[in-house]
Amino acid sequence: MQTINAEGGCLCGEIRFRVNGPLLGSAACHCRDCQHVCGGAPAYVVVVSKSSLNITKGQPASYANTAESGAQRTRQFCGTCGSPLFATDTSFPDVVSIKVGSLDDPSLFKSEAQFWTGSAPPWHLIDPNVPQFPKGPES
Ligand SMILES: [Zn+2]
Ligand SMILES: [Zn+2]
Repeated sequence: MQTINAEGGCLCGEIRFRVNGPLLGSAACHCRDCQHVCGGAPAYVVVVSKSSLNITKGQPASYANTAESGAQRTRQFCGTCGSPLFATDTSFPDVVSIKVGSLDDPSLFKSEAQFWTGSAPPWHLIDPNVPQFPKGPES
């Protein structure tokens, strides 16, 4: 299994983190909630076990709601600059997804799946060479 050993943070630098461990997955999420959080774009994330993520500076703010999947989803972001950082989900209690844009080197990431494409607007770019799922990974 591929591992990830990287650092990242928010736009203003108040939050910094290190992630070191097995890379469990990487995906684009086209759900409406991610569109809100990302300003219209899908969310690009890497998925790791919670124990692989260490916040080294600052304390993220958080917001929880019921996701399109029906699970309780908690999103963490910088309370100062608003950058989306992490999300956890009651459907997958041991893992955390990290927004790829928060990594110091986002080029490390390549999406292996595209979720919630059924919720994407017609102009979202959906890669025909990457598996597509109209709903989430639990469906
Ligand atoms: Zn910030
Ligand atoms: Zn989503």
